[in-house]
Amino acid sequence: MQIFTCPFCGPREETEFHFGAEAGKARPEPAPEISDAAWADYLYMNEAPRGRAREIWVHLTCGEFFVMERDTVTREVLTVAALPGREA
Ligand SMILES: [Zn+2]
Repeated sequence: MQIFTCPFCGPREETEFHFGAEAGKARPEPAPEISDAAWADYLYMNEAPRGRAREIWVHLTCGEFFVMERDTVTREVLTVAALPGREA
């Protein structure tokens, strides 16, 4: 069992967390002009880098979203931080 650290609650088992999205992924705009293919690409296509990844996660227990930087190879969590404006 891996332990992740919620910036609001502290260390918890990984089963309390859910992946949200890649951090920094820009929503295509303006929405009425975006093709279905471009929208599907935005929703479902992720970089999935080997190594360092910056992602949005949610702690299901408190409901807070935060940024987690982790190494996808070693599974090491490098940093966790609240989203801007949501600091603990
Ligand atoms: Zn939490």
